[in-house]
Amino acid sequence: MSQHLSKSRYTSGLQCSKLLWWKVYEPDAPELVADDASQALFTRGQRIGELARAYVPGGVLIDLPYYEFDLRVTATAKALADGAPVVYEACFLEDGVFVAVDILERRDDGFVLVEVKSTLGVKEKHLADVAVQMHVVRRAGLTVNRAEVMHLNRDCTYPDLSNLFMREDVTERIGPALLNVPNEIASLAAALTGPLPDVVTGPHCNTPYPCPFLGRCWPQLPENHVSTLYRIHATKVVQLVADGINTLHDLPLDFTASAPALRQIRSIRAGEVIVEEGLSEALAGLEPPIAYLDFETISPPVPAWLGCHPCEQVPVQFSCHVLGPDGLAHHEWLAEGPGDPREEFARAVINACAGSKTVVAFGSPFERRCIGALADFLPQLRADLVALTGRIRDLHLIVRDHVYHPGFGGSFSLKDVLPALVPGLGYDDLEIQDGTTASTALQALLLDADALGPEERRAIRRALLSYCERDTLAMVRLHERLDVLTGLAPATKELPIPGTPVQAIVAELPS
Ligand code: SF4
Repeated sequence: MSQHLSKSRYTSGLQCSKLLWWKVYEPDAPELVADDASQALFTRGQRIGELARAYVPGGVLIDLPYYEFDLRVTATAKALADGAPVVYEACFLEDGVFVAVDILERRDDGFVLVEVKSTLGVKEKHLADVAVQMHVVRRAGLTVNRAEVMHLNRDCTYPDLSNLFMREDVTERIGPALLNVPNEIASLAAALTGPLPDVVTGPHCNTPYPCPFLGRCWPQLPENHVSTLYRIHATKVVQLVADGINTLHDLPLDFTASAPALRQIRSIRAGEVIVEEGLSEALAGLEPPIAYLDFETISPPVPAWLGCHPCEQVPVQFSCHVLGPDGLAHHEWLAEGPGDPREEFARAVINACAGSKTVVAFGSPFERRCIGALADFLPQLRADLVALTGRIRDLHLIVRDHVYHPGFGGSFSLKDVLPALVPGLGYDDLEIQDGTTASTALQALLLDADALGPEERRAIRRALLSYCERDTLAMVRLHERLDVLTGLAPATKELPIPGTPVQAIVAELPS
């Protein structure tokens, strides 16, 4: 198999022949070691693939070790010769390409090739994947009249999982990709017989997937490269660099961009924190007592609770710091076990925020969406939840629209804003350091708890609680820092900007 193409190698090769070359000749490269999030995605895909078989029942599974390529092909041929109506993991090796078809279904006039995806629809990037399978299976001599992608159905509603999947005919859509398969196989096979291909970097490095070898191919960018400008489009970056404009310092004075991006440029050029005059007014709208609120969610592909759809986001944990007349109090809640957490969660959030005139979130549309869904599901709590939503204010918007620190790096995410404005408070000391990892851990803790030992479950709970607590403590400290920047509170610590004098300046928004 060492130099054979597989379905995944083929699609990697379509993205970039250099990427394919490294995957084949450096399979142990550190860049190819899956992180927890990739591993979780892989496991999720595998489980959905296994589950899908029950919806096309009565088949024969080619169940052999993955490295037994020849045996798997032979077992498939036997199953087909024996008249199996359906074969799961049907394996073929033709034209130097090995494929394992998720589901191969026999019909009167030929076969249907079914590729199972754990997404909510067919994506463009799925088509090349199906096309190469279609080519190989046809080359093996089978009549395949139809290709389908079987994906999750967003209309499926728990507890009725009878329509969990939808089967979409993609026979016509794969047409152009299918025509190209022979040429692509030949060119990829040729690339693998030579030295490392010389491929120029470009948009393909991130499309359809971020390449794991970005660090090898992309040169170290200079500090404040134009690509760090807030929300700049990739094509604009390419155009600027082609015009010899590499850093934010090189941009022309009449460069047009959004107000936060222009503020970023001014801040970088001045080497200073920029604080707009409107910050005081924006902060004055945060009437105490204030509850600083953050949710963590899971999105199980197979819905687990009444009325839920595949991949629906459900809040299962929150942290809330309340700053009142008696000081700072902390509330937290984390679901336990596989039961429906929504009512208990909603009651705990309402209680935690009771008495707070303002509820501060960072990126509040997310919390608003979650609360809105809870209000729809829990009519008995609807009034309280709607009232809560009305008190939410977004600290992210306040920072984005009034402050820029050179340390933000063009991002207004809490993870980027916090270390710049509140030095010493970050996430590096925590076991869980980002939302994706938290969501993966939550899903394992709540819906796959049987796979974990009691000590492991306790450790995951502790890590999750610490992570979520840090998010809301970060908002408290950030708010304090913003008060300092407006002059509302005495500065307790200067904001360091490496290599430049520390100074906060007040400026007008550009007209
Ligand atoms: S970073 Fe770009 S050029 Fe380099 S291997 Fe990946 S896709 Fe190819």
